[in-house]
Amino acid sequence: MVKKQIDIRALDAEELQQKLLEMGEKKFRANQVYDWLWKKHISSFDEMLNVPKSLRERLSEAFSLSKVQIEDVQVSNDGTRKYAFKLAGGQQVEGVLIPTPSRVTACISSQAGCSLDCTFCATGLLDLKHNLYAYEIYDQVAILRAEAEKHYELPLSNIVYMGMGEPLLNYRNVMRSVEMVTSPEGLGMSPKRITVSTSGVAKMIRRLADDGARFEFALSLHAANDETRSRIMPINDSNNLETLKEALRYFYEKTNTRVTLEYCIFKDVNDSLQAAKELADFSRTIPTKVNIIEYNPFPESGFVNTTRKRMDAFIEYLEKEKVIVNVRRSRGRDIDGGCGQLALRHTK
Ligand code: SAH
Ligand code: SF4
Repeated sequence: MVKKQIDIRALDAEELQQKLLEMGEKKFRANQVYDWLWKKHISSFDEMLNVPKSLRERLSEAFSLSKVQIEDVQVSNDGTRKYAFKLAGGQQVEGVLIPTPSRVTACISSQAGCSLDCTFCATGLLDLKHNLYAYEIYDQVAILRAEAEKHYELPLSNIVYMGMGEPLLNYRNVMRSVEMVTSPEGLGMSPKRITVSTSGVAKMIRRLADDGARFEFALSLHAANDETRSRIMPINDSNNLETLKEALRYFYEKTNTRVTLEYCIFKDVNDSLQAAKELADFSRTIPTKVNIIEYNPFPESGFVNTTRKRMDAFIEYLEKEKVIVNVRRSRGRDIDGGCGQLALRHTK
């Protein structure tokens, strides 16, 4: 049987150094190897030119070295590009590039599949297959950054952890990937250009606060009464609105950062003026802004977009209540742009 090797990039700088010391090597070698992996982005051990051949061979026996690969690309008529990425373990995840005239946002995945079963989400219909390693998350950013420059001639301006999976249930790898994207040795991006979105794992929101998160943080609320929210997001049974409010207060106390509430608006589910009132009340828990998201429907979901008229009335109510509201029109509809939709189609 072939022994399953770990990928050398699954080790952080300290672990790599430890491993090389165990192999009888000196500290400077560990630094050289680290630079090849993280600054020069090589894809095979043979490319480590200043590392002796014998060590390159021993490394390739001890570790694998893989990169996330682009498997498929679809281009929407609104310019959105959707990527199917293949991981070394064979799993598929999705990433999206969303251009506007002045900026490009990359949407990336943190898990292959998701364990949380939100009823309106295509990823929720897939089982959780794999928690992405930090380097697999980082690779998506590095690939999409190069693609943004190639296709739009714009630098990548923002990153949102809003692809497949629940970032806070793959906490360590997500935090490490943010570190790599923001560190000067990595891509040197500002944490303020990164948004991590959660369906509401209260315990991990507190952990984020304790760890002094400096990136933007979004909570997928979608309903501000427990009955409706539990119906569409089963996680609400164990993390209800009161628990989330407490976690948000804790988060704000520690970070002093405004939180974004995401609210995807579904016809006859959460689009009434009563629902708008509940949302306005919830939004006053701490300083927040609300993103109203247009639903990206898919046949298996059973949910549909609300009407323009009801959406306008909903937004007007929030504005009257002095809630800060942005509207996010859905992009890439013609290419299954919504999270998990492409993978769902491939699975079927
Ligand atoms: N698991 C995290 C992050 C990934 S989902 C979370 O739930 O926040 C990112 C966002 O996309 C969430 O707000 C989610 O509710 C929303 N979403 C999922 N499916 C969608 C769809 N078909 N159309 C529009 N938004 C969707
Ligand atoms: Fe998972 Fe987020 Fe989709 Fe819910 S909305 S199933 S938490 S990816």
